[in-house]
Amino acid sequence: MSEKFWMSVDQKENPVDFAKNIPGEFTSSPIRDGFEKDGLDRRDFMKIMGASALMASLAGCTRRPVQKIVPYVNNPEEIIPGQPNFYASADMKSGYGFIVKTREGRPIKVDGNTDHPMNKGAISTREQALVHDLYDPDRLRAPKIDGADVDWKAFDDAVMKALENSKGSTWILTGTVLSPTLKSVIEKCNLRHVMLDAFPMDDVLEGQAQSFGSRVFPRYRFDQADYVVSFDADFLDNWGSTVEYTKQFSEKRRLDGKKISMSKLVAFESAMRLTGQNADLRVSVHPNDQLIVALGVASEVARLSGRSVDELSAFNAGAVAQRTGVAKETIELVAKELVKFRGRGLAIASGRGAQGVALQNVVNFINSVLDNDGEAMDGSSFPSNQFQGSFAEFDKLLNAAKAGTVKTLIIQGVNPAYLFADSMGVKEALKKIPNVIYVGSYQDETAELAKFVAAESHAFEAWGDVNPQRDLYSIVQPTIRPLWQTKSLLEMLVDWSPAMAGSKVAETAYDAVVANWKQLHGRFGGGKSFQDWWDDTLMSGVVGASGREGKAAARSYRMDALRSAISASRSAGQKGADGEFTLMITSSVALGDGFQANNALLQELPDPVSKNTWGNYLAVSPNTAKKMRWLDGDIVKIENAAHSVELPVYRQPGMPANVVAAHYGYGRKFNGRIGNGVGVSLSNFTGSSSMGITPANCVLGVKISKTGKKEKIPCTQGHHSLEGRDIVFDTSLEEYRDNPKSGIVRHFPNPPSIWSGHEYNGYKWGMVIDLSSCTGCSACVIACSVENNVPAVGKDQVQRGREMQWIRIDRYYSGDPENPETLTQPMLCQHCDNAPCETVCPVLATVHSDEGINQMIYNRCVGTKYCSNNCPYKVRRFNWFENNAPMNAGMEHPLPLMKNPEVTLRSRGVMEKCTFCTQRIELGKYAAKAENRRAGDNDIRTACQEACPADAISFGDTNNPNSKVAVLRDHPRGFTSLEELNAKPAVTYLTKVRNRPAEKKADGHHGGGHH
Ligand code: SF4
Repeated sequence: MSEKFWMSVDQKENPVDFAKNIPGEFTSSPIRDGFEKDGLDRRDFMKIMGASALMASLAGCTRRPVQKIVPYVNNPEEIIPGQPNFYASADMKSGYGFIVKTREGRPIKVDGNTDHPMNKGAISTREQALVHDLYDPDRLRAPKIDGADVDWKAFDDAVMKALENSKGSTWILTGTVLSPTLKSVIEKCNLRHVMLDAFPMDDVLEGQAQSFGSRVFPRYRFDQADYVVSFDADFLDNWGSTVEYTKQFSEKRRLDGKKISMSKLVAFESAMRLTGQNADLRVSVHPNDQLIVALGVASEVARLSGRSVDELSAFNAGAVAQRTGVAKETIELVAKELVKFRGRGLAIASGRGAQGVALQNVVNFINSVLDNDGEAMDGSSFPSNQFQGSFAEFDKLLNAAKAGTVKTLIIQGVNPAYLFADSMGVKEALKKIPNVIYVGSYQDETAELAKFVAAESHAFEAWGDVNPQRDLYSIVQPTIRPLWQTKSLLEMLVDWSPAMAGSKVAETAYDAVVANWKQLHGRFGGGKSFQDWWDDTLMSGVVGASGREGKAAARSYRMDALRSAISASRSAGQKGADGEFTLMITSSVALGDGFQANNALLQELPDPVSKNTWGNYLAVSPNTAKKMRWLDGDIVKIENAAHSVELPVYRQPGMPANVVAAHYGYGRKFNGRIGNGVGVSLSNFTGSSSMGITPANCVLGVKISKTGKKEKIPCTQGHHSLEGRDIVFDTSLEEYRDNPKSGIVRHFPNPPSIWSGHEYNGYKWGMVIDLSSCTGCSACVIACSVENNVPAVGKDQVQRGREMQWIRIDRYYSGDPENPETLTQPMLCQHCDNAPCETVCPVLATVHSDEGINQMIYNRCVGTKYCSNNCPYKVRRFNWFENNAPMNAGMEHPLPLMKNPEVTLRSRGVMEKCTFCTQRIELGKYAAKAENRRAGDNDIRTACQEACPADAISFGDTNNPNSKVAVLRDHPRGFTSLEELNAKPAVTYLTKVRNRPAEKKADGHHGGGHH
């Protein structure tokens, strides 16, 4: 057995004690834990209620609820009971194409539109969770004036009076507006418009302006890049257009069929993040050294390409190595490979303030010298509109407000009172404005400071449009009438427009959208009548999708930009005084900027890097923790002159020495019952920068001291142990080329079996997961939970190891804990042919179907949990409580509406687990049967497969030799987990291949062998 992989620092440092301390999965009985004595903390209880269900009763036996059904009185024409409807729409924030699935008029699931050229069928983790935001009972239900609910007539009258009185001094602050219709209405209303992104991309925009003369956010094209170097730009997580990038990146690295080439990713990272986890070469760098390292690479690139720049000579690899500790050979290697991939490479960066812009100028120089501009970096043909915020403009607004020249300010899509908290005088500025009109979904931090709070519709409840890239448009169409008395910003501005524009700019928001699209019709209508084109667009969901593949025009680089970067580097390299730390403020996959903090599915999503849930923590390198005598869960105080917070320590492999990191987006005070008080806010640490927070923000010179307090971090990774087994395999590209089976170890190639096996005469369902493609993003986890009514259970229950997610993304490390390699493995029910669970169930509640699915019969399950005990993959989930309350037993309105009626709600005392989305299988089979054919690859897609932006998951009929899954199962990289147990899983994994040379040192693994 190999001990190459490890899951946590404890396991690596002290495997014997770790094994002893792993709680038995079933020791976490509520009775043994004293749970019934203590009861549930009321606050946690409320969280769970809002989370995804109401626990109707903890003590009473509430199984087998009686549920009432009420037939339609008048059947709506387009609704066939039991049949879903699908509507094309788009996300107002990212501009990605959506397909919204509705049942009986309720949106219950959202996925990506496969025809959209950016997201190509995938959407992000947070977009997957949008459906739950729609039904959040904590949303504002009516507008308010001075904190009191009013009706829209009274609200509109009062707002219009305020707008009349402040003509010429009315401003509007929004996030990036992708809607051309909304932009034109704002213009017609004579509003001074400022856009501010929660995570500003000013560094990229300013860098582009300085380097090439235009302030654009380029369309980065990872599908054109064979070699990618990232200086802290976490493009697989929260930097830029992440779903689009993940799609392209994974496509470029896919090794199916006979393909033996893949792109290479090098990440210089200042905190351990998703992009570094997926890098072929990850280099841990202090955040204030990033600019110097980038200049070192630029210097070598310039030298090797014969474009020597005198000013860069001071940044030769040797000098940079001395200043930063990054090996000279690494800098030389990266430069050499970048030059080798001239025209097929890409350098990207993210940084803070002036240094951030300087970093951009350096990567722009590299891209320009190597002819990557116009190839993998498109700043001229179809640049992105996704980030238009300007921190400088926001600063002007603040100054105008402080000077008393802003009479009315409308705010929407951004929460400045949370983003900046007490820093930058944001709250004081807002208090000086006589009329703050806040348009939002929650009575949040900014709403608390506003005289007028306008309850905003969810994006699924309103008309709109988006233009995320040049010449690319989608219509946003409502899929449900507003649940409450809410309106969209577009509706509000149209209604208020007489007070600003002198007359109404359109009759309704819908009319405004149609009027705008009539203008687009001339360019994109293709000879169709407007109505036909409009109807077609509503159905297809996107306009301008084609013709975007070609090369863009290269721009000429302004050498002044490089000179200014070199002069900015004089302030780089500082590390703070002795005994001080540098705090990296990072964004989490789950919460991002904290906008969706009231979403329990997101709060309970294990962070893809740390596997922690429900709150932020301080990530510290294992060595630093050892030096400081900090252990996981020790609560420390982090302070600088401006601010202090307390966070629990978490030893995170891959963190640079003396650099600590914590996620932004937590510590909400005014959000809702789920989000309030989870974690701590870092906002006061962020505002001192000249450009606010960025996704790679760092604060120099923080002091950290132990408080003596301790907390158990709700981490999902520590529940399980590998017991030294080979559960995953990886290899290098070099070894793979020599031997496609390399990395895989088969202990018992043909183990004996006491089973006679099953016969599958019809379909036989199977899944293949490519570990080389999976980035660990966890979109599949949320998609599965939404599709299958999987509840969130709350922090306390996660701490006891009782999370319910049907798919978990296991994260394994190998190598040096200070900079390990990482591998992620989606783990779900393996639907084994020789299923260990089926053998031990005393009541036949878990049985095998004639299509190879391991089924759960909830009505039979008596909760002995033998099956879970006997499952080697630990993928079965037991309902300790009434997590999915009966709909007629007090579940808070409108939570019942979000449930997928195609999936049974499980009761207390029942075991559950992945079903391969059996409801989707049945629907696909029926559809195929209606056409008298066998269901094929495109008829059935599981929720996780559909969500995956990396296309890592394939599903289908393994009895059909032409199905994708049947072909992939036979790929030389294919293996099943714990093959030696002979459970014969229906899930096949494909080895992780890293684009690097073969390892020199022996580690016990040998290519495709047995022992
Ligand atoms: S399998 Fe899941 S975690 Fe992996 S890339 Fe796909 S969606 Fe993300």
